[in-house]
Amino acid sequence: MRTSRREILLLFFVMFYGALTVTCIPQTVNKQKEKTDTTMADSARNKNVKAEELAKDLKRKGIRDERVLAAIAKIPREQFVDKSMAEYAYLDRPLPIEEGQTISQPYTVAFQTELLQLKPDEKVLEIGTGSGYQAAVLCEMGAKVYSIERYEVLYLTAKETLHKLGYYPHLFFGDGYEGLPEEAPFDKILITAAPEEIPEKLKKQLRIGGWMVLPLGGRQGQKMTVVRRTGEERYNQTTHGDFIFVPMQKGTEE
Ligand code: SAH
Repeated sequence: MRTSRREILLLFFVMFYGALTVTCIPQTVNKQKEKTDTTMADSARNKNVKAEELAKDLKRKGIRDERVLAAIAKIPREQFVDKSMAEYAYLDRPLPIEEGQTISQPYTVAFQTELLQLKPDEKVLEIGTGSGYQAAVLCEMGAKVYSIERYEVLYLTAKETLHKLGYYPHLFFGDGYEGLPEEAPFDKILITAAPEEIPEKLKKQLRIGGWMVLPLGGRQGQKMTVVRRTGEERYNQTTHGDFIFVPMQKGTEE
């Protein structure tokens, strides 16, 4: 009798702990911690109205996926940019972040995320954490998020911002061209910097039936491209309009 009660308790513990760790959705524990920081909580609350306006703007511009729009309507984008940029955070514009990089334009974030057609709990690899905003959108949608950044300072800043807001994706400082072979296969891969060619190692880290969304091309401009893995060695490719991203570069920088 005693053993079975212990087993039940253990089962509850595993279920509860499991629920906390499988996704990077904001955790109640951290939300409570956040409430003590009134400045942060107040600014997030005030800005949510602006985030909702931004989501409406994106809907007018053609974004259809309600889950993408709902995520954007919740996330305080001003937390992902320098304080001096806060007043522009809810305009549909890319903004500069450290190391000469950019936080993508909200429309672009929404467009790429829509192309991912995420299902709950899917395992997604993002290349180019940058500010962490895109990772927050993926977390908010219930994905299991892995994200790689090649600048150490951006990796560290994004980690701090995401944790402050209660998002816990798996973040890595490294070269996205390598991907994360030990975590593969991924259901989806999202590249947020532009490679000139489809990174071979990343193609192989997709599950069969999964796909990768990437801006493909040189510095003059890129085609938004979806590469689907349809078999062990079979892939097909579609394009979805013109965009301009920062280049995807090899190696890392400390
Ligand atoms: N998703 C980001 C967009 C950042 S811009 C956001 O929401 O803010 C693209 C990012 O890709 C930059 O931070 C850049 O440093 C990073 N990047 C470029 N090449 C990379 C590579 N090989 N591996 C990992 N990150 C890379």
